[in-house]
Amino acid sequence: MSSPYAYEERIAIAAVRRACGLTSSVFETLIKNETLTKGDKSPVTVGDFAAQALISTVLHNVFPEDPIVGEEDASDLRVESGKEMRDRIVGLANDALKAPLAAGDDAAWGVGPGKELTANGILDAIDRGNHPGGPTGRMWTIDPIDGTKGFLRGEQYAVCLSLIVDAKVQVGVIGCPNLLIDPSQPEKGTGAIFSAVRGHGARQLTLEGTDPITLRIPPTTVENLKFLESVEAAHSSHSFNDRVTEVLGVKAAPVRMDSQAKYAALCRGEGGSYLRMPTGVGYREKIWDHAPGEVLVVEAGGVVTDSRGQALNFGLGRTLGENFGVIAAGKDIHPQVLAAVQAVQAEPKAKV
Ligand code: AMP
Ligand code: MG
Repeated sequence: MSSPYAYEERIAIAAVRRACGLTSSVFETLIKNETLTKGDKSPVTVGDFAAQALISTVLHNVFPEDPIVGEEDASDLRVESGKEMRDRIVGLANDALKAPLAAGDDAAWGVGPGKELTANGILDAIDRGNHPGGPTGRMWTIDPIDGTKGFLRGEQYAVCLSLIVDAKVQVGVIGCPNLLIDPSQPEKGTGAIFSAVRGHGARQLTLEGTDPITLRIPPTTVENLKFLESVEAAHSSHSFNDRVTEVLGVKAAPVRMDSQAKYAALCRGEGGSYLRMPTGVGYREKIWDHAPGEVLVVEAGGVVTDSRGQALNFGLGRTLGENFGVIAAGKDIHPQVLAAVQAVQAEPKAKV
C-alpha cells in the first residue's frame, strides 16, 4: 500500500538532510558570542535559527498553506543588539539554501544555486514558525536543534520535523548527525536520519537520506531493559527513574543521551524504554520535542503514553498541556514500566 504522505516524507527528509549539513558545519566554527540565552534560560545558537529558517523556507515553498509550529522566533534578531548574530544567521541560512541540489532535490523547493533570501526573508522564515497549534488541520513542527546543550557539548542533538494532521502525528523525521550509524560497528562512523509515516513503518536512512533499513524494537524484558534518559537532570527526573529501576529490578545503569536521539535509539533496541518524568511543577513539554519521536516509536512497534497511560495529546497547542511525563517503550515491556512508574508515584515522598 503506498503511503498517503510519501511526498511529505520525501520533502521532510530533504529538509532535515540539508539542515543537518548546516548544523554540522556550524558546530565546526561556532564561537562564543554565537549563543543567546532565552527567557526560559535555555541556550539557542546561530545554528538553531539558521536551521529553522532553512526548513521553514522549504516547507513554505512546497506547502504554502501549511502552518508551522517552530521552536524559535526572530524577535531578538530584529533589534539593533541582535545585528551581529543576525548577519551570521543570514549568512549560514543562505549558504545552506544555495548549496548544490542533491539527487532528488528540486529547485522549486527554494533550494540550490541562486536561492538566497534577503535578511528580512530569513527572519520572516524563522517567524513563520509562530503558529499556535491546535486540534484541527495540518501543521508542521520544527525543532531545528533539539538538545542544544548536547550540541554545544559535541554530543547528541537532533534536527526534528513532523507533520501533524488533526492532532495525530502522520510523519516524523529526526536527523542525528552525531549518532553512531551502527552501535555494534562504531568504525562505520556517525550520522543517520530516522523517518516514519503513520501506518507505514519506521526506517533508518543514511545522512544523505538513502538506503532505508526498517526499524523494529526488539523484544524487551526486565533482564535486558536499560532506561534511556536525558543528560540534563533539569529536564527529567533522574532520581524518579532510579526508583523505577529499583522497583522493576532492572540491573543495568541508564543510558543518558540528549535530544530525540533517545527515541531513535529506542527503535534500534538500545535501551528498551525512554522515561521522562517531570522535575517539578510548571514546565510543559513542547509538541516539537515529542511529535517525531512518537510516530517513530509507534511505527517501530512501541507504545508512547504519559504516566496515566494516556496517549500524548498533540492537539492542545504548542505544548502537550499539563505535564504527566512521557513513557516510551516496546509493546511487551510498556505495561510493566507504566505500572512501576505509577507505583513510584504512589509512594510517600521521601523526607528531606
Ligand atoms: P533532552 O535533550 O532530552 O534533555 O531534552 C531537550 C529538551 O528539553 C529541549 O528541547 C527543551 O525544550 C526541553 N526542556 C527544557 N526545560 C525543560 C524542563 N524543565 N523539563 C523538561 N524538558 C525541558
Ligand atoms: Mg527541543
